[in-house]
Amino acid sequence: MSAAYPFSAIVGLAELRLALVLNAVSPAVGGVLVRGEKGTAKSTMVRALASQLPAVAVLPGCRFSCDPAAPDGQCPDGPHDPTVAGTTRAARLVELPVGASEDRLAGSLDIERALTEGVKAYEPGLLAAAHRGVLYVDEVNLLHDHLVDLLLDAAAMGTSHVEREGVSVRHAARFLLVGTMNPEEGELRPQLLDRFGLTVEVAASREPRERAEVVRRRLAYEADPDAFAARWAEQDAELAERILRARKLLADVVLPDAELERIARVCASFEVDGMRADLVTARTSIALAAWHGRTEVLAEDVRQAALLALPHRRRRNPFDAPGLDEEHLDEALRDPEEPQGEPEPEPEPEGDGPDGGGAPPPSADGDPSDGSGSAGEAPESTRAAPSSAAGTEDAPVEGAPAAAGGGREQAAVAAAEPYRTRLFAVPGVGQGAAGRRSRARTANGRTTGAQVAAGRVTRLHVAATVRAAALHQRARGRTGAGLVLRRADLREAVREGREGNLVLFVVDASGSMAARKRMRAVKGAVLSLLLDAYQRRDKVGLVTFRGADASLVLPPTSSVEIGAARLAALPTGGRTPVGAGLLRAHETLRVERLRDPQRRPLVVVVTDGRATGGPDALGESRRAARLLAATGVASLVVDCESGPVRLGLAARLAEDLGGGPVVTLDELAADGLAGLVRDTRSAA
Ligand SMILES: [Zn+2]
Repeated sequence: MSAAYPFSAIVGLAELRLALVLNAVSPAVGGVLVRGEKGTAKSTMVRALASQLPAVAVLPGCRFSCDPAAPDGQCPDGPHDPTVAGTTRAARLVELPVGASEDRLAGSLDIERALTEGVKAYEPGLLAAAHRGVLYVDEVNLLHDHLVDLLLDAAAMGTSHVEREGVSVRHAARFLLVGTMNPEEGELRPQLLDRFGLTVEVAASREPRERAEVVRRRLAYEADPDAFAARWAEQDAELAERILRARKLLADVVLPDAELERIARVCASFEVDGMRADLVTARTSIALAAWHGRTEVLAEDVRQAALLALPHRRRRNPFDAPGLDEEHLDEALRDPEEPQGEPEPEPEPEGDGPDGGGAPPPSADGDPSDGSGSAGEAPESTRAAPSSAAGTEDAPVEGAPAAAGGGREQAAVAAAEPYRTRLFAVPGVGQGAAGRRSRARTANGRTTGAQVAAGRVTRLHVAATVRAAALHQRARGRTGAGLVLRRADLREAVREGREGNLVLFVVDASGSMAARKRMRAVKGAVLSLLLDAYQRRDKVGLVTFRGADASLVLPPTSSVEIGAARLAALPTGGRTPVGAGLLRAHETLRVERLRDPQRRPLVVVVTDGRATGGPDALGESRRAARLLAATGVASLVVDCESGPVRLGLAARLAEDLGGGPVVTLDELAADGLAGLVRDTRSAA
């Protein structure tokens, strides 16, 4: 095996380098989440970290890395002989693949041997291997839910616990959690996000000289990995030495009260949840002081620590990306007695609003999103004032005269406040990736039956196994009390859980929908469904149609945040080419079936069904709907028709689409009038 890429040889990524080093100095910092696009060498750098970690003292023969100074009393390989001397081994970096099985992560109990031979056979998993080292998850945002739960449990308890059919094993599992992710592929669940001590954003350098150096080193490494590593060995060794020195210094570092209060002030100012932010910032400040060879934490350590520890802890709604406003940070860091220039009364940029008369009191400086300037468009759209949504007039946008049905181009309307929606599931039982929408055969979930075991048994169905064995007891010459079991008797549990789906929205953005109040409600409905899709681990896509054509505004993705942003920016107006929208959906699903065949789609058509835009617009729409129905795709029509004259076109569209449910905007809400749903298919 050729040498790994050396840690010191990586160009740039200074913040990531520091975050990793601080964790090496003080594992109590709690790991790093690295966010950034692909191809930034973030994974290379994380993998190279192992070589920089101090060696670990272990007991020979213990598969659970017991510390010779304090062996684990519950160690499955114990009790350990206290006279055996310890040895050292290099620190480990263990990689957890996102699609790993539960057994791979937590270890597996061999039920077969437990039953047929009466021995407790436990094969340690990745959590055991990572104990006292690093557990690295690339694409951590794509990690299966049941693995996330296991990981959160282990991280919270510092132990891993495996139980199968009444046989259980427990062992210590304390590790540094490092994750990398590409935010374009979806955000992380908040509980998991909170588990990472620090976050770092990385991007490829835009500096040509630096980019050239990256390529130069990469080529040199590929040409001769061993020679390349040898050239950097000295620098790596120096770094490892400095980490070791800092680790020894750690216990002597003092955190003065003034700096501790500074930390508390900053955390309070960013309205973080709970106390974890304060703790992590304090530990990181201490590690920073030790790294710089000091025994006292300074204000600059606190600032640096806050930049690493707080971006992902700021309170926010699920669609906001982590981030920290540095101006706000510097204000919060300032000593309270320090004289600060009285801020001059700034002209209020929002003065052109409906109530823009009086200047607001200076209490507005508590909102961290205020200083972010031009990026303020997305939050505005998800936080539309509820009072304006409750307005009675159906006012057209920008004061334009009655726009309904007209061909006028209109500016984007903000969405109404999102709400919890009812569950719409794909009928039948799928086999897709774990999620929370439709019924599916999964590795987890409740037991619904038994089948003859194929391969290694991990989910034994005890009753079915005993039944199968019982028939043969006489033939096998049973004499004692116990059952005589053979391998062929073993029955495996068949489990049913839930899968995530692809929810493809097909949204009518034409003039007939464009009355301001209605479009606000429609966007609010789609935003609510998007939020629901996020919680159910679905992929989402967005097709819109207006004017002459339909477009795929959002190709299927796990990033619901991008979906919400595209929705907010969606303009409305023009004719209503329903048929084109459905054809575009048909094409999108065809491509997705090739890419991700196990993921079953749900098409959500949001329209009043009034197809216009050609002599046979209605006929085109019906033909497109039947074409889509012929693929067997499940659908839901959200009927947006309003006004005194109702044509009921949306209901007809739903029938052409294969008879899925039709709901009005009011019926979408979880606490709405569910009894009124015309539900020709089960949409439990
Ligand atoms: Zn042990």
